Amino acid sequence: MKMYIRGYHWPHILFFSASPIISIVSVSWLVAHGGPHWATWILAVVLLFATGMGTTAGYHRLFSHKSYQAKWAVRLLYLLFGGAAFEGSARWWACQHRIHHHHIDTGQDPYGINKGFWHAHIGWLFVQDQEPPNFDNIKDLDQDPLVRLQDRFYAPLAILIGFGLPTAIAALWGDPWGGFFVAGVTRMVFNHHATFCINSLCHYIGNRPYSDQHSARDSWIAALVTYGEGYHNFHHEFAYDYRNGIRFYQWDPTKWLINVLSWFKLAHHLRQASQEHILAARLEMDQKRAVGRLAHYSESVRYKTHEVLITTRTQLQQTFARLQKLKKEYTKVKRAQLHTFTESMGKTLEEKRLELQRAKQEFDMIMARWQQLISGPELVGGLP
Ligand SMILES: [Zn+2]
Ligand SMILES: [Zn+2]
Repeated sequence: MKMYIRGYHWPHILFFSASPIISIVSVSWLVAHGGPHWATWILAVVLLFATGMGTTAGYHRLFSHKSYQAKWAVRLLYLLFGGAAFEGSARWWACQHRIHHHHIDTGQDPYGINKGFWHAHIGWLFVQDQEPPNFDNIKDLDQDPLVRLQDRFYAPLAILIGFGLPTAIAALWGDPWGGFFVAGVTRMVFNHHATFCINSLCHYIGNRPYSDQHSARDSWIAALVTYGEGYHNFHHEFAYDYRNGIRFYQWDPTKWLINVLSWFKLAHHLRQASQEHILAARLEMDQKRAVGRLAHYSESVRYKTHEVLITTRTQLQQTFARLQKLKKEYTKVKRAQLHTFTESMGKTLEEKRLELQRAKQEFDMIMARWQQLISGPELVGGLP
């Protein structure tokens, strides 16, 4: 079937324009007539997360980036619920996404923010502005029979899980129309725009702590609406890492789901960037910003500050590497002590603990100095 007429993808335009209208009209009508049932709202939220996570944990972090591995039952659920988000098959989605990472912010980026917020969000689905992909970049996914099967039967599966399932479940409490329009259509519309925000909002708001070589940004607001994908600057820099929010307090439910799956041995080989690499990227960006602020200083001040920055940065990285090594050694002795305790082992453990404590204090001290340097390079001792 011919999808593009005069460069426009009319089935997409109709589908993505009509669904929000149907959602608003139907939910208004249901509310005006005493519905939907409260259980239907809960079902809608549960399905919103299931389909959203199918996209972020499945389509994105598993199939597109191979940032971990998962048992076949988990992959099947991702494919069924990710498909019910109505964003294409995992095969097609991953192909586009890998092109996005490879050609970010260039003419070949399918949803490049360089063509505007609207284009990155949804407009790219409406127009034909590049050659159709040849799927060369997803040969690994073609080895997975489940991925091939989902690609082949994508439309009926999406309709069955996305609309049929909520309608049937809500019929159990006598609210099939609520199930269809609220947990089916409205849930799908919300999910569309939540995940579309990964391509638009995550390249638009926030800061760039790890790299300024691409438009991806870190923002907790974007993370809230994208199931944790808002730490996108980190993601584009370390795309093989299964986490997007690396701090425990950062909102990243997708990472938490993958962690829970790994506790139950349903996910394995979770990949993480080394802490040394993450720190190095962060310090590089700090230094760039600090050097940028020195533009109006004399050449001798710039030179001296630059030297101090380089020295402090080297000290920081060396201390951090030592700290990581000591942490490993301490954990090793502690584990050994749990099995067989001897007096000398107790002494070694105490020595390791003190050594670790000293290294941590040293690191904190140099980090405080670094923070002072990058926030105001003119504070470097001895500078005019
Ligand atoms: Zn991106
Ligand atoms: Zn990605």
